[in-house]
Amino acid sequence: MRNILELKNIGYSYHSLHGETIALKDISFGVQEGEFIAIVGPSGCGKSTLLSIIAGLLAPEQGTIVVNNPDGSLHYPKIGYMLQRDHLFEWRTVYRNVILGLELNHKMTKENLDKVDALLTDYGLDKFRDKRPSELSGGMKQRAALIRTLALEPQLLLLDEPFSALDYQTRLFVSADICRLIRAAGKTMIIITHDLAEAISLADRIIVLSGRPAVVKNQMSVNLTISDESPLAARNAPEFQQYFNRLWEDMTHE
Ligand code: ADP
Ligand code: MG
Repeated sequence: MRNILELKNIGYSYHSLHGETIALKDISFGVQEGEFIAIVGPSGCGKSTLLSIIAGLLAPEQGTIVVNNPDGSLHYPKIGYMLQRDHLFEWRTVYRNVILGLELNHKMTKENLDKVDALLTDYGLDKFRDKRPSELSGGMKQRAALIRTLALEPQLLLLDEPFSALDYQTRLFVSADICRLIRAAGKTMIIITHDLAEAISLADRIIVLSGRPAVVKNQMSVNLTISDESPLAARNAPEFQQYFNRLWEDMTHE
């Protein structure tokens, strides 16, 4: 597998009248095509900052991101961003929400709208297209947010604690569901999460950041000996507890 992106010695500080906050220091790791990476680390360590840099919303102060597309082209991968809250607009119907990205980007072609229709059907939302977001369950809202993101055909999905607004039970199902759909769509994903069990059950690799300034404290590949690929089943894998303990050690020993 090849790295489609390589972060090399990324550093970033926020500057204000009160001084400097060093958020990231010397962060290096590669992102392979089709890989699911989870980033964990203490609150306030710089995870969202790192994701904004990968998204191209912030320019790194130090270091570079090297692009290495499979076809040899040099364009930066197309990014899809999903945030903590689903950010669906109540004054728009579900349908008008899922086409919002296409509308804003002037990409309302027949082909793209057909694709949205197919996703609405696949994800069981076609009967809800004329409803308002508040009429959907938490899981359906996340699916709608995912369709809106996928409609723009991103290559790399960046998820910043996307499930943290959901209660625990719902979160178990919705996180498993959304990640299964992203895998089925063949995308590469980087997800930030507070939840170590979620990271182990969803990711191929976990990157542990230290407290601020964040450095990469550890990286670990997750290989669970379980035939059922579902994230819920993954939690029952015999090695699950060992991964959890190792992560817990990393997180609690500065
Ligand atoms: P995390 O997502 O891991 O909780 P963030 O990346 O949001 O952390 O923030 C890292 C550090 O940078 C925090 O100490 C935060 O207070 C600070 N920070 C974040 N955004 C800004 C900003 N716009 N201006 C100044 N400081 C910021
Ligand atoms: Mg954050």
